[in-house]
Amino acid sequence: MSWEGVIRQYKKYLSVTKKTPVITLYEGNTPLLPATTLSREIHPDLDIYLKYEGMNPTGSFKDRGMTMAISKAVEAGAKAVMCASTGNTSASAAAYAARSGMKSFVLVPHNSIALGKLAQAAMHGAHILAIRGNFDDALKFVLQITEKYPVTLVNSLNPFRIEGQKSGAFEICDVLKKAPDYHAIPVGNAGNITAYWAGYLDYFNDKKISSLPKMIGFQAAGAAPIVLGKPVADPHTIATAIKIGNPASWKSAEQAAKDSHGLIDSVTDEEIIEAYQMLASLEGVFCEPASAASVAGVIKKAKAGYFQKGEKKTVVCILTGHGLKDPERAIDVSAKPIVIDANLEAIISQLGL
Ligand SMILES: *Cc1c(COP(=O)(O)O)cnc(C)c1O
Repeated sequence: MSWEGVIRQYKKYLSVTKKTPVITLYEGNTPLLPATTLSREIHPDLDIYLKYEGMNPTGSFKDRGMTMAISKAVEAGAKAVMCASTGNTSASAAAYAARSGMKSFVLVPHNSIALGKLAQAAMHGAHILAIRGNFDDALKFVLQITEKYPVTLVNSLNPFRIEGQKSGAFEICDVLKKAPDYHAIPVGNAGNITAYWAGYLDYFNDKKISSLPKMIGFQAAGAAPIVLGKPVADPHTIATAIKIGNPASWKSAEQAAKDSHGLIDSVTDEEIIEAYQMLASLEGVFCEPASAASVAGVIKKAKAGYFQKGEKKTVVCILTGHGLKDPERAIDVSAKPIVIDANLEAIISQLGL
């Protein structure tokens, strides 16, 4: 059977009926890549897999939830949707809204969203407002507006977003034929860790898997409210997708970590950049900085002796978004091209052959 998106694939686990119009870009079915070199570098007993969510239609996992949120909004007769966004939600909302014929309004923090994401929202015809404030401010306003006006909220507070995002967990288990031992994931607004845990529980209750993973979530050190136990008024990190000081799904993220005997920890920007470069250079996988927080977290935990020696364990790291989303950061951390004359000797002299 050909793949026609997460709703058709997993409708059994989703709140859809025959009457639900399926608005899809055939999202999901993303690669689960074995990371052999990285595993060897990090820990002798870990089999690390990368769930490359950058391969979704708009380049991030947000599409899994957006297909549900937009389909249900159309079913309910909505004419417009709105979200606050660090970038990827707006790109996804704009694309799915365009496909459905609805209007989209997005509120983003001015000067704090990656270039590729802004380009996407603009191309798909979103009405973009960049506020002089941060993501948490933007979400507060969006909640007030969507409560009062006829426009549907498509942030992850929309329960259909979380439902659709469960599909990532289903895919991992379908490929591995079991649940991983550890599930490593970046944590921003904390909807995704909530969704994955719900997905694993669905499969467990349906007897598709016989064990559950430990959920290990990682915030950026400058935006780590869950780790600190209090909101961060002025979050800062180069990983803009997780630059959030007061996550909407805070409680359910903590619950997922607790119920799974996992944890939520933080990683510094330096650790994030290191993992970001390792993924690209050792595995050929280009993700955006926030995505690398999952791998940075596994490296940190391995160094601290969190994973036992002598016992093979499977770790899935979620790489939430594509590296091309944030070309400026990639160029900033990489070697610059060497500019030379258009001349054979000049070129050869640079090659060191
Ligand atoms: C949205 C996003 C996150 C954070 O996910 P939450 O569900 O908000 O915790 C992490 N990485 C990328 C690339 C994202 O777009």
